[in-house]
This record gives sequence, C-alpha cells and structure tokens, in this order.
Amino acid sequence: MTIGRFAPSPTGVLHLGNLRTALASWLSARASRGRWLIRMEDVDGPRCRRDLGEAQLKDLGLLGLESDAPVLWQSDRGSAYHAALVALHQAGCLYPCVCTRRDLEKLASAPHAEDGLRPYPGRCRGRSWEGFDRALRFRLPAGALDWRDQLLGAQSNDPAALTGDPLLFRRDGCFAYHLAVVVDDGAQGVTEVVRGADLRSVTATQIRLQEALGLPRPAYAHLGLVAAPDGSRLGKRAGALGVAALAARGLSPAGLVGWLGWSLGCLGRPEPCRAEELIPAFDWARVPKGEVRVPETWV
Ligand code: GLU
Repeated sequence: MTIGRFAPSPTGVLHLGNLRTALASWLSARASRGRWLIRMEDVDGPRCRRDLGEAQLKDLGLLGLESDAPVLWQSDRGSAYHAALVALHQAGCLYPCVCTRRDLEKLASAPHAEDGLRPYPGRCRGRSWEGFDRALRFRLPAGALDWRDQLLGAQSNDPAALTGDPLLFRRDGCFAYHLAVVVDDGAQGVTEVVRGADLRSVTATQIRLQEALGLPRPAYAHLGLVAAPDGSRLGKRAGALGVAALAARGLSPAGLVGWLGWSLGCLGRPEPCRAEELIPAFDWARVPKGEVRVPETWV
C-alpha cells in the first residue's frame, strides 16, 4: 500500500507546479488504494507563515485533495529532529561548521539547487565536536549512489559533488530542510515521494542521510516543472497561477483539475472533472517526463 505525501513550504500561494505535484502524488496513492498525507514544511524561519499554510490547505481542498491524517507542521517537530541529531552525533556523522553565509556566498539551506546552491566544500570537516549549539553538518560518505526515479529511470549521483555535506542545524536554532524531510518521511511511513524536478539533485544526499538514520528508502518520482507558454521559467509569474487567481479569471477548480489531469496523461484533452474521476486512468507510464507549458490564455 502506497503512503504518499505532499510537502509544500507555506511561503506563498500554491502555483501550478505545486498543484500538479500534489495531484500526481494523490492520484498515485489513490490508484494503489493507499494513503495520502499533507505535511507543512515550515522550518525555514520567518518566510513560513501559518496563514499561508492554511490558505494552501484550502486550495488543495477546493481541488478535492485532503490529507488522510492530521496535517503535520514541521515547526511542531523540534524534539524529533533533535533526537535525530543526537543519533547522528553518536554515529560520528556530524561536525560543527563555522562558515558564514558570506564565506560560502550562495550556499544556503534552501532545498532548491536552481536557486544557487553550491556544494559545500568541506572547510570545517576536520573540526572537533563542540556541542549541539553550533551549526552542524552531516558528513557524507564518499562515492556515487545509484537510485531509481519511477518517472525518470535509473539515476547515479555523487552527492558530495551536488550538495556537499548538508547543513542540518543552523546556529540560530533552526533545523534544516534535509533533516526535517528525511526524519518526517521516516516517521510518517512514507513509501512514495513525488515532488518537482528541481529537487532531483538533492535526492542522493537525502538517501545518504536516511541510511545513516537507519530509515527505509521510499520510491521517488520527480515531475517536470510547469513552464511559461514559450518554455521560459515562470519565475514570479507562477504566483499569479494559483487556484484563486485562475478562478477569478474564469477557470473553475474542476477546469483546473481537468487541465492538471490532462498534463499528467490521464485525459485525452483538458476538460473539467473531479479528481476522483482521474484515478482509474492514472499510470506512471503515461506521465510525461519533461516540463509542461501553461496555456497562452492563462498568463
Ligand atoms: N518543501 C519542499 C518544497 O516546497 C518540498 C520538499 C519535498 O517534497 O521533499 O519545495
């Protein structure tokens, strides 16, 4: 039985790419008579807001996508993340890092490689332990990792070259995305992770962390991004392509579900429908691997 999840960060309105990911993961779970969970990834400090998360849940509800368990908010999960840090420290996998943002330029804890993530060069690897009140990095084991993406097929990545040792805990007391996502997927028993292609490059790093914590590896599927009609990145315009903005321009939630379902290979043409109607037609073998483009008339 599949246990899928959708894990948005409550930093803004869910855009078409997020909604497409949510629907694909919901359909995949439903098609296997499995369970589907929503998790709010609100560990990234002040950018995350409860009210934005509530609005995201409302938008998902309008599309017929509701969590089968109470929504998990990562901001409530500090003790679980701390326990994972203790386990990693006991296994000798952590070291303190004193590099500043400036030292590392764009190297941040943001999950998206496209946003300028550079592999951490390992400057502090040799530092000895100084306690849990320091910024902490995970010591990645050397070598490439083979994993399978159920949409894109066999993958082989060297996480050291893609992300370098990830930051798991920041000096300001915040737990980082990579730690929270791995701990929560494990705690919630998630067996299938469906998310945007921009996170494909960090998957090997997360699998290494799962291994160090003794957690099982879920199946992964990374969906192509939703691009502008001319193929360029939607960037800021993506924010204007949420459920409410599209509804204000005459596209009903059923129309949106129909377009999303069509973009996932469930319908021959985009026509209004309910999410349940798409379940029998959902098949990973029919989901397009590449990006999809927003219709001209929507932007
Ligand atoms: N919270 C991440 C995001 O909004 C997604 C993380 C994941 O699905 O693993 O991009």
